[in-house]
Amino acid sequence: MNQRIVGIEPPDSAHIRTWIKMMTEKYGGLMEVSVIGSSLLGRKIHAIHIGSRRRKVLYCGGVHGREWITSLLMMYFAEDLLAACSKGERMCEMDIGRLLESSGLTIIPSLNPDGVEISINGADLPGLSDYLNDDLIERCKSEDFCRRWKANAGGVDINRNFNSGWDDMRAIAMERGINGPSSEGWTGEYPVSEPETRAVTELCAREKFRHLVAFHSVGEEIYWSYRNFTPARSHIMARILAMSSGYSLSEPDKSASSAGLKDWFMEVYHAPAFTVEVGSGSSPLPLSGFRFMYNRLREMLTLGIAM
Ligand SMILES: [Zn+2]
Repeated sequence: MNQRIVGIEPPDSAHIRTWIKMMTEKYGGLMEVSVIGSSLLGRKIHAIHIGSRRRKVLYCGGVHGREWITSLLMMYFAEDLLAACSKGERMCEMDIGRLLESSGLTIIPSLNPDGVEISINGADLPGLSDYLNDDLIERCKSEDFCRRWKANAGGVDINRNFNSGWDDMRAIAMERGINGPSSEGWTGEYPVSEPETRAVTELCAREKFRHLVAFHSVGEEIYWSYRNFTPARSHIMARILAMSSGYSLSEPDKSASSAGLKDWFMEVYHAPAFTVEVGSGSSPLPLSGFRFMYNRLREMLTLGIAM
């Protein structure tokens, strides 16, 4: 196998920045890097496009801070895809060069780079105290509290901030006593209030993706439906993703059933969208299990472009 640039280490902003720079030097002719927005604290949100501009899909990692293993997953896969493409090699028995001539993939490695940073390196970030109340800042002194952080730097759960069933999601949050910035579960003051949410919704509006896959952890399961907005082809596509990964198909429970990226995409574009919960255990997942997890998901990731 090729020597990868990406190492198995936590994908904080510094790591992603270095990786993108080295990837551009090595594969610049085969990929296009763009900045699709900035996080609340000003970190760049990158997107990498590989292959055709016509039939393209979107993979999104790093939505929830503590689920940063999904960023590493995106980086690993992008690199393997580009390596196979540049060498004319097959991957999962597919001719990658031919696949990418007819289909394209846009990858967002880390949609919520501030949240990922808090989970990996702690809450000692310039500007954070402008957004969080004293109680949250105090709790952030605990290393374990930071490690388990899901939200963005404003204490908004990005995957509860999309404009699809947002009122219902907010009512559920309120019922649970989450009525303001929190490490997880807060919807924000209004839909699409956060720069991270806007970055991906604006990208989708510009690019017209055929479908998208949002990566979270954990559960080894795939969510594929949303209310009555689920396209007819979603089920068979979800079954292909499930068969190739060994993951199971799941229906969302009420508490996680709206205002997410996949929900919004299905409602607005009438196109399939999936949430894949990678790995088992509890987040953040240890790096020791990463290689096993990646190898299990490689075929699913490749088929997801071809579908
Ligand atoms: Zn998540």
